[in-house]
Order: sequence, then C-alpha cells, then structure tokens
Amino acid sequence: ELSSVPLVISGLTKSYPGGLKAVRDLSFRVEHGQVLGLLGPNGAGKTTTLRMVMGLIHPSEGHIRVFGHKVTPGAPVLSRIGSFVEGSGFLPHLSGAANLRLYWAATGRPLEEAHVEEALEIAGLGDAVNRRVRTYSQGMRQRLAIAQAMLGLPDLLILDEPTNGLDPPQIHQMREVLRRYAAAGRTVLVSSHLLAEVEQTCSHVVVMHKGQLVAAGEVADIAAGGGEATFRVDSP
Ligand code: ATP
Repeated sequence: ELSSVPLVISGLTKSYPGGLKAVRDLSFRVEHGQVLGLLGPNGAGKTTTLRMVMGLIHPSEGHIRVFGHKVTPGAPVLSRIGSFVEGSGFLPHLSGAANLRLYWAATGRPLEEAHVEEALEIAGLGDAVNRRVRTYSQGMRQRLAIAQAMLGLPDLLILDEPTNGLDPPQIHQMREVLRRYAAAGRTVLVSSHLLAEVEQTCSHVVVMHKGQLVAAGEVADIAAGGGEATFRVDSP
C-alpha cells in the first residue's frame, strides 16, 4: 500500500542554472520505522534532496511521494513532516517552552501542551523547559530546534545535519535524542557526512556522491562493505 510508505523518491533530478546537476536521477524509499541516513561528503546533494522533500524547492525532474501524496509547495501532506534545517532562530529572552509554543501558534495548528513537554523531554531538555534560551549552550539550542521539528510527533522527521557544529559530548546527546524518537517506531530521514555517525544512529543508509546514489541498504551491510570507499567512486 503506497499510502502507508512515508517517503518514495523516484527519478529525482535538480539542475541549477549553468548546467550543474546537484541531484541526478535519485530513487529510494524510506519505510515505516526506518531511521535512514543520507550519507555523503559536502556537495553530494543531500541538502538539495531534503529541501525538495520538504517542498521548499522544485525538482527539475522526477517526483516525491509522502504517504502516497505528491509533494508540491504548500501540499497538506507537508504537515505530516517535521523538519530541522540549520539556523532556526529563537527568542533569547523567552523560555524553550515559550519559543516552541510561539512557533506552533504561527503554524495555525492546534497544539496540546503535552506535545511541548513531550518534545522537550525527548530532546533531553526536560530540566531546562522554563529557562530562557539565552542561557542555553549551542548543543541545547540545536536540540531545541530538533524539539521544534518533533512537535506533535510528526509521522516523518527530517533532519539536515543535526550534529553540525557540535562538540563530541553534544553529538552524543543528539544521538540519544534520535534514539529516543526512533524507539517508538517513528520514521526518520537524517543527513550526515560521517559514516561513523550513520552507523551509530541509523538502521538504513543511502550513500550519495556528486548528486547520485552510489550505495543503499542496511547500515550493517554498507558499513561492512566499506562505505568510505564509495566516496572515492567517480560518477561517469
Ligand atoms: P553540504 O553538506 O555542503 O550541505 P550537500 O550534500 O548538502 O552538501 P548540496 O548543498 O545539496 O550538497 O549541494 C549540491 C551541489 O549543488 C553543490 O555543488 C552546490 O554548490 C550546488 N548548489 C546548491 N544550491 C545551489 C543553488 N541555489 N544554486 C546553484 N548551485 C547550488
């Protein structure tokens, strides 16, 4: 049943003016309950792919289906996706909880207070709910941005390089956040340029290089087969 598959990407291509193809004929799917890592070096096309899935930019070719619905800008099905992109701004003089409530109010969707607490709890910010964001460390702010993406427990959570700019202890905490979210059988698509990170957090992986898929499968299989090596494969 296609309508139960969180994400199906078929023949996706994104060309930029000047002829650069940031994404080339990309096809893969994310099944319910998978934590799929989109792995590749800088410039591989991960961000471009995720932005198309979020309906932020138009594909040049191909299509994307989320729970069976075609993704177009403003499509109702986008409300089933929670997304994290770098650089979410928070109001420093408000608490973490107040920032999340404000964000949600702006979406015009009804919010249960329990959702705020739940998201902050999963993000490991339970003790800091009522503290002003001004007093948060960078890792805490980044986890607050993840909590924002998790509000209402979306059916598909999409995170673009959530550990970027974090130090090892903060990266460890971020990994725990993803584990807690995924433990309830929820579906996650997360990008990374680090194989070790994908190995530690993901069940499945799609490896991209120069806009193309070069390997895909269960993390254990790809890691055993030398996932790093795929970075050196030059696309024709
Ligand atoms: P990173 O980790 O650096 O974000 P990435 O795998 O997410 O890498 P993309 O950001 O998707 O890669 O970029 C893929 C390619 O597309 C790069 O060569 C980039 O320079 C190019 N690109 C991205 N956005 C645009 C744009 N708006 N116009 C032209 N080229 C772009």
